[in-house]
Amino acid sequence: MVYKCLNCGANAIFDPDKGKMYCPHCDGIDSEQLQPGAGLNSCVVCGAPVEPDQYTSATKCEHCGSYMIFEERITGEREPHLILPFKVSKQKAKDCLKEKFGKKLFIPDGFLKEASLDKMEGIYVPFFMYDYDCTYEYSGTGKKVRRWRSGNTEYTETSTFQVERVMDVPFDKIPVDASIKMEDGAMDLLEPYDYSALEAFQTKYMSGFLGEMKNMEPSEVENRARHKAKADAESLMRGTMTEYEAVTPTRQNLNLIGKRTQYALLPVWDYTFRYKGKDYHFKLNGQTGKLIGATPISWGKAIGYTATMFFGLYAVLGLLLNILGGL
Ligand SMILES: [Zn+2]
Ligand SMILES: [Zn+2]
Repeated sequence: MVYKCLNCGANAIFDPDKGKMYCPHCDGIDSEQLQPGAGLNSCVVCGAPVEPDQYTSATKCEHCGSYMIFEERITGEREPHLILPFKVSKQKAKDCLKEKFGKKLFIPDGFLKEASLDKMEGIYVPFFMYDYDCTYEYSGTGKKVRRWRSGNTEYTETSTFQVERVMDVPFDKIPVDASIKMEDGAMDLLEPYDYSALEAFQTKYMSGFLGEMKNMEPSEVENRARHKAKADAESLMRGTMTEYEAVTPTRQNLNLIGKRTQYALLPVWDYTFRYKGKDYHFKLNGQTGKLIGATPISWGKAIGYTATMFFGLYAVLGLLLNILGGL
């Protein structure tokens, strides 16, 4: 399906700045009409062939630039429950990259060129959101130590306490990506998202972006959610025992009861820069603007700079580590 502007017939897209549907051709706002699609293999606007991969739920026609959504991949069993609409516009995403890399000396030519940056695309990435009830019983021995000095003698008094805790914590929407393509580490780095902005799924938010549908089962990745919930519960539990110098557990019983799993789409900007036959991926949280990625170092530039400025190798290595160490 495609959203078309009622005024001029061009492709209407969701504009994150306005928070509304927008026609880039005539500036029309909220003037869209839904036109059904023409299957998975051709553009409903211009008829050009499209080649979505197995999990593509929304794509852009290479020929006419229209953004189409494949209804067969977002309805029925495949319909997401929730969507977090893009908050960061393409322009803002580009500005973020420019700001981050604008002053770096060793980025290759073309890295920040408008033509390259235009290839940046927003993608809705599939996630599962797990809700749990958690009960946590804890028994242990807590130690408090008092130290004081009198004359030349230092005294230490150690008191031990029986520590008993029972905690009930509901966990709401623990996210785990449901995409084979998306590297797990990358999504963890892109977090956190503010999940209070999640909305009931609406297709219009997908217009103007690419989409990937879930391509795993909730049971395949649930271990990651349980692991996160457990770590959070343990950290909350430790937070209730700060008055003790040390606590040694004697019995722990942490029980997670699954309540609900929802399928959600989260926004990510993706910028892939091809350099000397290799792809470098940059991702930006489409809600917060947080950027992750590593830049290809342009050795041509680096060496030229070394020769003229007597830049030591350690400085180049330092910069490399600095860039790879996160942005
Ligand atoms: Zn229009
Ligand atoms: Zn087309």
